[in-house]
Amino acid sequence: MTLDDLVDRDRDHDCVGVGPQRVCVRVVSVADLPTRFGRFRIVAFENNRDGKEHVAIVHGDVLDAEDVPTRLHSECLTGDAIGSLRCDCRDQLETALRRLATMERGLLFYLRQEGRGIGLINKVRAYALQDRGLDTVEANLALGFRDDERDYAIAAHMIESLDIVSVRLMTNNPKKIAQLTQFGVRVTDRIPHVIPPNEHNRFYLETKAARSGHWIDFHGKPHLEEQADPVVVEGSGLETSGTH
Ligand SMILES: [Zn+2]
Ligand SMILES: [Zn+2]
Repeated sequence: MTLDDLVDRDRDHDCVGVGPQRVCVRVVSVADLPTRFGRFRIVAFENNRDGKEHVAIVHGDVLDAEDVPTRLHSECLTGDAIGSLRCDCRDQLETALRRLATMERGLLFYLRQEGRGIGLINKVRAYALQDRGLDTVEANLALGFRDDERDYAIAAHMIESLDIVSVRLMTNNPKKIAQLTQFGVRVTDRIPHVIPPNEHNRFYLETKAARSGHWIDFHGKPHLEEQADPVVVEGSGLETSGTH
């Protein structure tokens, strides 16, 4: 069995689904994906229920493998693609891909949960509210709360679709492990997700840590975290986890 064989295997796949939303995904296409971070393959999944598209970025042989280093990343168009400094999503994504490429095998799930699951337009609306001076609590209400259960259900099914025996989750958030476990994934270990310092993240991450978990940028505007992980910058000595 190879990754390519999964497309045929899943052609008529339809199961009872995972999680409260009964989400079911199937592998629809697999291709090579050389990147600036290393060589990967890309596995495209379709959600049978609402047609949403998700991908797994695969390095090395992961089928039937144990202890596969795995990162869950939530889509952030402004951060990942545009390089926005309103969040640290791009740093988190690039660091994960770079690290996975150096390992024997690894997986990154790119989950289409833009703006904490409420979509790009609502995320921009929340940014606009913050620009006008709303605090993080008010902006949070405008954003709505992230439906984490749905994220992890999709990821859990994708892990199962790839016949992964067990994963080592790359995260700073132990709750993520508990929730993935709840959906039947065997998580054998946690790999701390530590981001190397650079000119862009040093100032605001230090500021964030100093302000009790609230992220304040150069202009004094509060930010919301888009990834579920607290950020840890290598060598800063400022772990922000547990401050919320
Ligand atoms: Zn299914
Ligand atoms: Zn972001």
